[in-house]
Amino acid sequence: MDTIGGRWQAIKASIEAAALDAGRAPDSVSLLAVSKAHPASAMREVYMLGQRKFGENYLQEALTKQAELKDLAIEWHFIGPIQSNKTQAIAQHFDWVHSVDRVKIAERLNAARSAELPQLQVCIQVNISEENSKSGASAAEAIALAGHIRQLPRLSLRGLMAIPAPTADPAVQQAQFREVRNIYQTLLAQGHDLDTLSMGMSEDFPAAIREGATIVRVGSAIFGARIKSTTSTTE
Ligand SMILES: *Cc1c(COP(=O)(O)O)cnc(C)c1O
Repeated sequence: MDTIGGRWQAIKASIEAAALDAGRAPDSVSLLAVSKAHPASAMREVYMLGQRKFGENYLQEALTKQAELKDLAIEWHFIGPIQSNKTQAIAQHFDWVHSVDRVKIAERLNAARSAELPQLQVCIQVNISEENSKSGASAAEAIALAGHIRQLPRLSLRGLMAIPAPTADPAVQQAQFREVRNIYQTLLAQGHDLDTLSMGMSEDFPAAIREGATIVRVGSAIFGARIKSTTSTTE
């Protein structure tokens, strides 16, 4: 079982079990395989088992792997912090971007997304943890940003993404995810047509599924521990 394939199968089974536990359809939660710091060969291995959605945090690393995997029908999701000088390439080389947290980035992605490509599917990253150090919009900022994104023709707003403060306490995990869900519900009530709550990682995805996650982003529980990359802070 302790192979990438075995762990992938186990995570798929846990996602289904958590959905059923929460009274949800097993196929209402999809798995985004977070492959940052892992080689293209590992991605190919889970692709062969049926995985199609992959999440990457670092642009250069992702572009290299996209070239290596161009024979595969992968759906590429950008989930890392976005610097404005990277928006051109991100808009052209990804299907989804989960980490939009300010107007300037949304506008630049919109301007850079070619007319021949489908709209770029985006989520607003919200920051519900107390520390303001992390990226992400506050609830009020997210609501204003959603109104702005709605005016941008090359972007399709799908929902919210969050990375709550890590904690081992499932009740605290769930309370944090509930805050994200509350913002999501405010947006729905305002008439935004959304279907995506991107929340939950290796350590907390069952709690996220209990609070309505539709995409869980799982890395180390599938691919194993990441070797600390020296490029990750500069990209
Ligand atoms: C790395 C990362 C993940 C995956 O984290 P794991 O703990 O390895 O499952 C999910 N989302 C984001 C935004 C990440 O940067």
